[in-house]
Amino acid sequence: MKYCARCLYPENAKPTIILDDDTGICSGCNDHESRMSLDVNWEERRAMFDEIIEETKKLTKERGNNYDCIVPISGGKDSHFQVYVLKELYGLNPLLVSYNHCYNLEAGLRNLENLVEKSGCDLIRFTANPHSAKKLSRFMLETVGDITWHYHAGIRTLPFRVAVEKNIPLMVWGEHGFAELTGIVSLEDFVEFTKWTRKEHDMRGFEPEDVIAKSGGTITWRDVDPYCYPTDEQIETCGVRGIYMSNFFDWNAKHHMELMQEKWDFAAVTYERDRTFVNYAKIDDHANDLHDYLKYLKFGYGRATDDASMEIRHGRMTREEGIEMVKKYDSNEPSSFQTYLDFMEMTREEFFEMINPMREKELWNIDGAEWSLKDWVGNHPPNEANENARVIQSDDRTFADQNKHLYYNENNPPEKTGDERLDVKKLKFKIL
Ligand SMILES: [Zn+2]
Repeated sequence: MKYCARCLYPENAKPTIILDDDTGICSGCNDHESRMSLDVNWEERRAMFDEIIEETKKLTKERGNNYDCIVPISGGKDSHFQVYVLKELYGLNPLLVSYNHCYNLEAGLRNLENLVEKSGCDLIRFTANPHSAKKLSRFMLETVGDITWHYHAGIRTLPFRVAVEKNIPLMVWGEHGFAELTGIVSLEDFVEFTKWTRKEHDMRGFEPEDVIAKSGGTITWRDVDPYCYPTDEQIETCGVRGIYMSNFFDWNAKHHMELMQEKWDFAAVTYERDRTFVNYAKIDDHANDLHDYLKYLKFGYGRATDDASMEIRHGRMTREEGIEMVKKYDSNEPSSFQTYLDFMEMTREEFFEMINPMREKELWNIDGAEWSLKDWVGNHPPNEANENARVIQSDDRTFADQNKHLYYNENNPPEKTGDERLDVKKLKFKIL
């Protein structure tokens, strides 16, 4: 397997990553570098954003709306940042829309509540019933090896239904999820949300009718109603467009975390997580851990690869330090594994029977019943391409003392907050 000369991504990373023939550097690293360099005129982009907002204010007035735009939120650091910018810097009245997938951790609920409280914005929260969530999780696990289809389908659908119902023409998303990691979308494209990316990327090619048809009738329209997108005619009448804020603002997860902690009291967790050293991202549920473990079982890498690659690109961690993180976390089975098996009414054996055939053959060896990875990034001794690809190291080290509340370091762990929701790792989840 080939790996990026700079970060830790393997060439089979999803979605498609391209390694440069000459430098061995991946498209994600190149994309990151162009964002950081002066090639990108952020002032000009900000002016474009200002224009969109002016236009929106006009439309709000014309339509007699009380809300200027919709912000689809989870309650995480990016949600906080988006709402903060729109409300505090632009004086808009955003309507927050949140899809509740049932798999909540208390840390996530704490931050969602915090966002509503601090922003003073109205929130529409739709809760999927747990029986359907169970059926869909199990079915999609069997079909594509993913238990979070309903998450993505829910948050990519519900805000449009609300937009149509309330005639709100602007929806503001955070970052284009995939662009940052593997660089499949260029900043030059100014991509906007499309029905196509919703289906192909977020919903793995499955619209509700496809799920029903493929399930042979075990899943019905009642189970998938929340994921039915408005008609083309409805979308056209409302004229709603979905823009990504990351096209207009220099998107920096660590910066958002720090700013939102200071301004609005967003909080990270303080315990050691199962699959990554980053304590402030994707902390609202642990289904994400199982989701990420599935990525490892299929493609041989997990979130520690994603997170360490990002630290390397920012010069906060060397490639060697990143490899240590991959070694420490990528293969860990989530401690909440049994919780989800129980929820889906499935045994461990049934789970692996479903998933083993999905492991990439070039990556995995089987010896009796033991699976082992044929290759991983730590197998490859540093070479000249790695040396040439090194980024200048920043003084802001990942594990420096000033970052101890952001990243878990066993030698210098985060201080407890006194709030159990943030301090204690739980194996169960909450539906509401
Ligand atoms: Zn790379």
